[in-house]
Amino acid sequence: MLFREIRGNEALKQQLATMCDENRTGHAILFSEAGEYGAVAHAVALAQYLSCQQRHHGQACGTCPNCQKFNKLIHPDLHFIFPVNAVSKSGSRPLSQSFIGPWRELMLNNPYFSEETLSKHLGLEEKSGTISVHEAKEIISKMSIRSYEGGNKYAIIWLPERMTAEAANKLLKIIEEPYPNTYFFLITHAPERVISTIVSRCLRIDVGPIPPAAQRNEDASEWQEPALALLRHAANRDLVSLLQTGERLWEFGREKQKYFCLYLEDCLRNLLFLSENIPLGTGLTPETEQQLRQIAPRFSRESIEKAFSATDHARTLLESNVNAKSVFAVLCNFLYNSVNL
Ligand SMILES: [Zn+2]
Repeated sequence: MLFREIRGNEALKQQLATMCDENRTGHAILFSEAGEYGAVAHAVALAQYLSCQQRHHGQACGTCPNCQKFNKLIHPDLHFIFPVNAVSKSGSRPLSQSFIGPWRELMLNNPYFSEETLSKHLGLEEKSGTISVHEAKEIISKMSIRSYEGGNKYAIIWLPERMTAEAANKLLKIIEEPYPNTYFFLITHAPERVISTIVSRCLRIDVGPIPPAAQRNEDASEWQEPALALLRHAANRDLVSLLQTGERLWEFGREKQKYFCLYLEDCLRNLLFLSENIPLGTGLTPETEQQLRQIAPRFSRESIEKAFSATDHARTLLESNVNAKSVFAVLCNFLYNSVNL
């Protein structure tokens, strides 16, 4: 899960990345949100950013071995704890681990979910679940052993207000005296109901509502369509259409031009995944995926990596207010020359 894939809260995402870059990430963070604003996605993106081996410009790379596991939420040092209750399939001492499949599925499809949506998705027979002392013991034992990958370990605890008093007291001890390289990211919808001794040990971060513009996917089509068109025209060796599409980008405002570059980088990353038979990132429409699959054979891994760097450089130039016409002319030319002949 990458920061750029999360809607809204641009300043916050930047702040989280800067905190990591400056080695100031607290080992216990309480993300607080008053609605379905995707706080859990921020927590996972922060963990991925911390573990990424090639992070740059405030973003995890999305392609290194750690990122590949984070993209599917299957990194062995990433643990999720959320409220569950006893259902027929889980036995009398239900743990989050018994529900990890549906949890991952929901997180990957739509991380902006309510407790009710989660309960339904997990098939909980009662409306709400709890985080039990068995769960607390389990996570303490997981956090105390050596990490599988030799790096950080993360416990993402969704709704700490649902912990029983016994569970909260157990967890408090480990949050007070954490093992090295362990991080606890808690996501609350009701900070006043989390026990105060835990709250006082955490750095509190408020996640704000998603602005209406970021909620509407159709707005993104403004820069998605030309990004795919550029790649398609480059793949078809159609220089005239390629340059005409590039000219349309001049009319965009600076912010949209930067979003365009970010989206183009996402497309290139997906082309890289296709070339290596790695499952594609989430959130792609079937039409977009089909277009990328058609384009993919025309680009080698090396040319995709070079195009990625060129796009990243274009974005840096736009941020420095370099003339957009020359930035996009250079980028179009570069894409044209990246295609396998
Ligand atoms: Zn990475």
